[in-house]
Amino acid sequence: MYFDDYDTPVFRPPSEAYSFILRVTRGCAHNACTYCNMYRGVPFQVLTDEAILRQISMAQQQNAEGVRRVFLADGDALVLSTDRLLRILHILRQSFPHLERVASYAAPQDILRKQPDELKQLQQAGLKLLYYGMESGDSATLKAVNKGVTGEESVEVGQRVIEAGMQLSLMVILGIAGAENSERHALATARAISAIHPTMLGAICLMLYRGSELKAQFEQGAFQPLSPAGLMQELYTMLEHIELPADTACIFRSNHVSNYVNLAGNLPQDKPRLLEEIRRSIDQLTKIKNWDVYNHDKF
Ligand code: SF4
Repeated sequence: MYFDDYDTPVFRPPSEAYSFILRVTRGCAHNACTYCNMYRGVPFQVLTDEAILRQISMAQQQNAEGVRRVFLADGDALVLSTDRLLRILHILRQSFPHLERVASYAAPQDILRKQPDELKQLQQAGLKLLYYGMESGDSATLKAVNKGVTGEESVEVGQRVIEAGMQLSLMVILGIAGAENSERHALATARAISAIHPTMLGAICLMLYRGSELKAQFEQGAFQPLSPAGLMQELYTMLEHIELPADTACIFRSNHVSNYVNLAGNLPQDKPRLLEEIRRSIDQLTKIKNWDVYNHDKF
């Protein structure tokens, strides 16, 4: 359910397909990650109270009883002050009697800017789930892709979200460090995940999007992507080194359009099965010789 005027693109996680997408900002305040072209050309803007209230009012008129989930868009809705977010969450609770959860992307800089007690207040007011594209736990990789935070800060972001009582859907990108730094990225990311204990973990494969700096680096020969078998080897190393307590139930998915092999399970319980499936896929993917046509220019 969307009520903005669509003059710039709207992105949302697949699991928010049935949510009311409430746009509170336009674009991404950071807008500098070299692998991302989502909001290129979109000047960042925080929407006015009037524009936000108009969307809520339209959703209320159309289906007040039916709205159970709300997703705050765009790329970093949490750039808004905590007071303003609390007011929006309050209005949402008043407007939709069956509201179960509000979710948002979590830009790391926004999380680090908020105090732990502010995150707790937001959780108690209904912000139950954050989607965090950590991409890597490796500081050198994060610097190379201009993520704007270090590996240590990324861990801090994840831990703060969990400590606030929110669910955390953590995303990492296979292949983002290129062929040369694959193992370092895999090991550092495994350490970060082990320190964070995310609620959900997703592993997608790097795609080189049109208009992104990383695609330009690839075309200039400055970035060497991993082969499909290399991507799975990276995931094998990462998964092998993730250590989570036995009573954790981290939902693991690697089933994005970018993935060569669909994987699903719970960590740590299903780790041996997942590793075996990955090992078998490496045997199969090693046979692909013309892999350079894959994944590089889909969007
Ligand atoms: S990956 Fe996220 S934080 Fe980075 S530019 Fe894209 S939307 Fe912004």
